[in-house]
Amino acid sequence: REPVLEIRDLCVDYGVGEHGVRAITDATLTLHRGEVLGLAGESGSGKSTLAYAVTRLLRAPGVITGGEAVFHTRDGEAVDLFGADAATLRRIRWDQLSVVFQSALHALNPVARIDVQLTDALKAHRAHMTADQRRERAAELLRLVGINEDRLRSYPHELSGGMRQRVMIAMALALEPQVVIMDEPTTALDVVTQREILEELLQLKDRLGFAVIFITHDLSLLLELADTIAIMYAGRLVELADAGELFHAPRHPYSYGLLNSFPALHGERVRMEGIPGSPPALSAMPSGCAFHPRCPFAIERCRRETPELAVPAADLSSRVAACHLQDGLETVPAPLARALG
Ligand code: ATP
Ligand code: SF4
Ligand code: MG
Repeated sequence: REPVLEIRDLCVDYGVGEHGVRAITDATLTLHRGEVLGLAGESGSGKSTLAYAVTRLLRAPGVITGGEAVFHTRDGEAVDLFGADAATLRRIRWDQLSVVFQSALHALNPVARIDVQLTDALKAHRAHMTADQRRERAAELLRLVGINEDRLRSYPHELSGGMRQRVMIAMALALEPQVVIMDEPTTALDVVTQREILEELLQLKDRLGFAVIFITHDLSLLLELADTIAIMYAGRLVELADAGELFHAPRHPYSYGLLNSFPALHGERVRMEGIPGSPPALSAMPSGCAFHPRCPFAIERCRRETPELAVPAADLSSRVAACHLQDGLETVPAPLARALG
């Protein structure tokens, strides 16, 4: 599998000096061509921060304090995203790596018609296209995301939340990127619409061949639709696994907790008993394993020593979890499996 985006040892702080807090610590993650990678974790775990940092859209007080992100373009060029100049970044961001952020529903210009917004994006990045070609392409993009082209002349407020989300996806796909990052694009939508939109995106992915990083709290959605899942806790990646393997045999106690607490997919939407307590504030990060105050399996060592996440093998035979209770490819200890299984 060919990597398209490689993130290594990423560190991000909010603020500097004595007011600074670390929001992302040593995140290492590889996205492969055509892969759907789901990124999950409770609110505040750093999912959006990671997406903003990697795309270089992080704003002050956010600062990238370490690591690198390498993007492999379709022409075989390896671009160091953290070292790239503004012109390179602009080129990469639209043509190759596009993002639909959490606030997507508010990202559309309320006073401009949909066709104008789509054609403007094309105008800025596809200068060689004629006005007619741009209009035709805009209509085609809307069809692609399942919106009738008579909607082209609508204003955003005339569209439902789900349609606005689709328009955002159409914009993200306008220039046929190789990587689409979607940051919880669906929070404002109902569950059925969320699922529909993600499924549609994945159908488009099969046709157009881009890779997806899909960020959400809804682990159940990822279990079904992602290839690979990365779990984040308190600014660290704590488990990386194939979606099926994560579901059947998660290795990190936090992953167990998340699996145990997601709402049932079918039937009543009951929140099952979840993880006790809440995630730490960045300014009061627990020592050792940041999860230890909430972990039913914590041992003395957990308070002192921070478990590392091993780098997964390229073939992803490779499930890795940052937890002292496991050693490389050992299976999860029986008490852990019993208690949570
Ligand atoms: P959610 O699921 O709620 O979207 P998230 O996983 O995307 O959460 P982030 O938004 O990345 O989390 O936030 C990670 C941490 O960084 C949080 O503790 C948050 O409070 C902190 N943070 C985010 N933005 C800022 C900021 N501008 N200044 C200071 N701290 C920030
Ligand atoms: Fe729990 Fe310790 Fe593993 Fe952290 S390292 S998840 S505290 S058992
Ligand atoms: Mg977020």
